[in-house]
Amino acid sequence: MNENPMVPDLALPEEPAERSLSGVASMGHAVVPGEIDISHGTILYLDDVTVSFDGFRALNALTLSINAGELRCIIGPNGAGKTTMMDVITGKTEPDSGKVFLGQSIDLTRMNEPSIARAGIGRKFQKPTVFEQHPVWENLELAMKADKGWWASLRARLDREAQARIEETLALIGLESEARRLAGELSHGQKQRLEIGMLLMQKPALLLLDEPAAGMTDDETMQLAELLNHLRGSCSMMVVEHDMEFVAALSGEKGKVTVMAEGRVLAHGTLDEVKRDETVIESYLGR
Ligand code: ADP
Ligand code: MG
Repeated sequence: MNENPMVPDLALPEEPAERSLSGVASMGHAVVPGEIDISHGTILYLDDVTVSFDGFRALNALTLSINAGELRCIIGPNGAGKTTMMDVITGKTEPDSGKVFLGQSIDLTRMNEPSIARAGIGRKFQKPTVFEQHPVWENLELAMKADKGWWASLRARLDREAQARIEETLALIGLESEARRLAGELSHGQKQRLEIGMLLMQKPALLLLDEPAAGMTDDETMQLAELLNHLRGSCSMMVVEHDMEFVAALSGEKGKVTVMAEGRVLAHGTLDEVKRDETVIESYLGR
């Protein structure tokens, strides 16, 4: 790190540092910049987080944690505070109180949005945000080089490794045959997958997805579930969703689902368990 405030910090790495989920274990408990300490098995935890808007508690003593490598689905009625929770994690909203940590040691409440993104948290908003006027492959290239500035990245020649990563990502998101098309010409489902691909180019440790299946056809929804299931092991994920078939496809029989209501956790367990929970039936699923 650059200690001298008069000298701009130019020592940015060429690419986001490689982050591995097992990195900490293999290095003892040393905390290295770019590494997230998951020695306790937790990638994210929120403890007693409260957010008020003019006295109204959008989050009310919310406590929740995600295991490293987990794909956690979050469900709950509109207004439960799901999006506000993501706003807090990504630094868009400052909590009134409570702790928000990435791994054991990275206090997200002390960081701004760009530094939280650089620390390894990628966020997918509900609406796809791709560069419509650029070809699909260039969207991925720009996403990879986002830190370096537009002109530099447009002019820079792709090295082989970068080229390979773009191709790998295109295959992963099922857009190989669309690589040369303008992103603006893609279907809604394809745009959503492209944006996830763009987030993956930054090698996130944790991906937050807010209602990613909204507005998708059934086929697109199942393709998205397949993609997210495929990402297991390469990053941890938190997925907010209403579509119960989609949630079932992601959580499987054993995966944990968290139900939020009124700014806190109402229930937590497998999808079957929370569906049978009386308080969940009352406040969310209905009879
Ligand atoms: P969800 O995503 O679960 O539907 P939200 O987090 O969007 O819920 O909203 C939770 C509550 O907080 C809602 O009642 C919403 O109106 C309120 N809220 C969210 N953001 C703001 C804001 N910036 N100003 C005022 N109220 C807000
Ligand atoms: Mg929301």
